[in-house]
Amino acid sequence: MQNTTIKVRLAPTPGQAELFEKTFGCCRWLWNHMLADEQKFYQETDVHFIPTPARYKAEAPFLKEVHSGALAEVHQSLRRAFQHFFHNPAAYRHPVYKRKKGGRDSFTMYCQSYPSGKGASIVLTDSGVRLPKAGVVRARLYRKPLHWWKLKSATVSRTPTGKYCCSLVYEYPAKRPAPVAPTAETTLGLNYSLSHFYVDSNGFSPDPPHWMGRSTEKLAKLQRRLARMERGSRNYEEQLQKIRRMHEHIANQRKDFIHKESRRIANAWDAVCVKDADLRAMSQAIRLGSVMDSGFGQFRELLRYKLERQGKPFILVNRFYPSAKTCRSCGSVNDALGPDDRRWTCPVCGAVHDRGRNGAENLRDQGLSQYYEQQGLGRSA
Ligand SMILES: [Zn+2]
Repeated sequence: MQNTTIKVRLAPTPGQAELFEKTFGCCRWLWNHMLADEQKFYQETDVHFIPTPARYKAEAPFLKEVHSGALAEVHQSLRRAFQHFFHNPAAYRHPVYKRKKGGRDSFTMYCQSYPSGKGASIVLTDSGVRLPKAGVVRARLYRKPLHWWKLKSATVSRTPTGKYCCSLVYEYPAKRPAPVAPTAETTLGLNYSLSHFYVDSNGFSPDPPHWMGRSTEKLAKLQRRLARMERGSRNYEEQLQKIRRMHEHIANQRKDFIHKESRRIANAWDAVCVKDADLRAMSQAIRLGSVMDSGFGQFRELLRYKLERQGKPFILVNRFYPSAKTCRSCGSVNDALGPDDRRWTCPVCGAVHDRGRNGAENLRDQGLSQYYEQQGLGRSA
């Protein structure tokens, strides 16, 4: 089975918005209490146990005002969080308490089918989404599910600027695409670049989206103005809201950009090679760099799944392979190459290289030979 998500923007009535807010609050309250009780129980008995939502209803009668499906999912997601943490503490952190401020509020409900074909608890209609307890919430749909998709769950969330969204997760039988065999001509190497997002093995880099630079400038201006205002004043709050809106705007621009770029590449090429980068090191670079950079991890992920859906390989090259420092002409490794050298001359053979393109071409060749090797091993085994 394969999953896909349709995200819609909701336009709730004041009553529906109030119910959403109440549900966010109840879910947060329940999460924090379950987590605290789990900790307490563990300290006293050395056993991990999370009480069910029903146990809290006497103590907290307000829980009865929201749909029990959302509360049941809090229990499930806390259990999952602990399971992930126990199985892989290096990758997952211990569940933490949810704070009211700063956190992104959301709740999830699973779609229940009623017996004897009487429909389901969550339904996407022409005008919106029908949710338990809330009724039909008006929504604008940009994409419609195909008729054989099965609705699994709905997650309602509120952005920091107060917009309500709903992510609908659908399940459908996976169709395995015929595998595509890449060649050097149909394979693209992508080299991450701080200033251009990426440089590919043909020397191409996407137009640095200048609007993103403009948005960043505007954001900096807003933040400078905020710094001069009195904390907690009305002007301050208004300015803060403007900044949140700007952040959201930039995030949307970036998302749009990486979706289009990954779609374009996944359609035009049969395979893509990138470096299996250390994402933690990259996120540190992001803190130092511009707004542009922060989308690269997400971009890689989108590219991976868009390629895989077409049976095309997404090839990760070992992060210690010196793609930037290896000369394409003679194969020698130039250890003297600094991180800021854009153009360089090979001290061994005298070839002149563009750093980004040389690195991307190396990644493509290295990735392809790695891929062939794996395929060969697969066949002989
Ligand atoms: Zn050389």
